[in-house]
Amino acid sequence: SDRWAKAEAILKELDEECGAPAAKLRPVADAMTVEMHAGLASEGGSKLKMLISYVDNLPTGDEKGLFYALDLGGTNFRVMRVQLGGKGSKIKQESEEVSIPPHLMIGSSQELFDFIAGALAKFVSTEGEDFHLPPGRQRELGFTFSFPVKQLSLASGTLIKWTKGFHIEGTVGQDVVGELTKAMERVGLDMRVAALVNDTVGTLAGGRYNNPDVVAAVILGTGTNAAYVERANAIPKWQGLLPKSGEMVINMEWGNFRSSHLPLTEYDQSLDAESLNPGEQIFEKTISGMYLGEIVRRVLCRMAEEASFFGDNIPPKLKIPFILRTPDMSAMHHDTSSDLKVVGSKLKDILEIPNSSLKMRKMIVEICDIVASRGARLSAAAILGVLKKLGRDGIKDGEKQRSVIALDGGLFEHYMKFRNCMVSTLEELLGEAADNIVIEHSNDGSGIGAALIAASHSQYL
Ligand code: ADP
Ligand code: MG
Repeated sequence: SDRWAKAEAILKELDEECGAPAAKLRPVADAMTVEMHAGLASEGGSKLKMLISYVDNLPTGDEKGLFYALDLGGTNFRVMRVQLGGKGSKIKQESEEVSIPPHLMIGSSQELFDFIAGALAKFVSTEGEDFHLPPGRQRELGFTFSFPVKQLSLASGTLIKWTKGFHIEGTVGQDVVGELTKAMERVGLDMRVAALVNDTVGTLAGGRYNNPDVVAAVILGTGTNAAYVERANAIPKWQGLLPKSGEMVINMEWGNFRSSHLPLTEYDQSLDAESLNPGEQIFEKTISGMYLGEIVRRVLCRMAEEASFFGDNIPPKLKIPFILRTPDMSAMHHDTSSDLKVVGSKLKDILEIPNSSLKMRKMIVEICDIVASRGARLSAAAILGVLKKLGRDGIKDGEKQRSVIALDGGLFEHYMKFRNCMVSTLEELLGEAADNIVIEHSNDGSGIGAALIAASHSQYL
């Protein structure tokens, strides 16, 4: 019928606009490399901030002692303690995850930091006998804060902007370590922040601790970002003394990448325009977990409106932004039952669409596939861009140079079709050089990494 023809046409258009064959991905990778150079050359030289992390040494394995880590970056925050025993010993660790009440993500700075400090204090009070703080010492913390920060030193930095659904008046321009420290004082917790790190930097440190070939870290979670090890003399904007190691970890903030080569659609445009941060984080909005489900919802909305896809009426729930979450999209995408019953139950439970036909369900799975594949393939192109910047995207005459990329984040961890597509696309793009590149899942590397960086910058060294 006419209805189906119109729906098919919308689907076909989506497929064409989201298509990212290798020939379209290479210019994306090249643009990433170019923007990396520009962001390193001067402050504000690129949409890529290429932030200097002040981490000029990655963990060696010699780190010792009790350290805490706190990871604030999206929907949850995590507190962790580790007991480091130096070379060859296993890290003892305990952690707890606390979900952030949504009203705190758009409330006041003080409320958010008080909540975090309170949860940290509670966690510290459960410290058991396995963990040892030498008498008279202050506890020390690595603070993983996964929003763009202009670092002033390893243990201080001002917030550039909120992302990922956070929108808190008054924090931008403030030193987030100062905010946390004041909150810790208010709740009576005696702890020093020894390091402020982005989650990508923490993941890089945690990854390197386990594997000396780790050169970069990528997060695919609520948002997306990457960090890598740069030569200090390849950072023209760096005004300070060159570090002894000759290296500096750079937090790319690649979520803000943007290029005319990105395959964008009307759905991306309206999502962006109606977001809390219009015009910002365009790359993040096409590939990360906060947004993939929302893109699918927008496609379904148009199909409902223009093709009566769900019948004469538009299901009211379908109009609610962010009602379709990426984990639900992922569940539908992975539905292997012959009648696509997972798709059917998600439609019923989330969108209150009771009677979906198999044909409808198949089309929905196809939409999920198109949207997830685009995100996964663009992620692979971005990684290629970083490898190109490092000169690690090819084969150097005969030399076998192994490069490991530490990956973490809920999207990478749980969305298997996304993950597999990303890995196979990277192989496709690298060709025979793919043999030298390894994608490694760095499970919770960011917390341990932050604790390791705190340990190597302890006040007691
Ligand atoms: P954050 O990025 O907030 O620090 P995570 O790395 O745990 O936290 O990532 C959480 C994100 O991962 C969620 O916002 C969601 O988008 C995505 N995610 C979690 N579980 C799944 C899943 N089963 N399928 C797809 N995406 C998932
Ligand atoms: Mg995280």
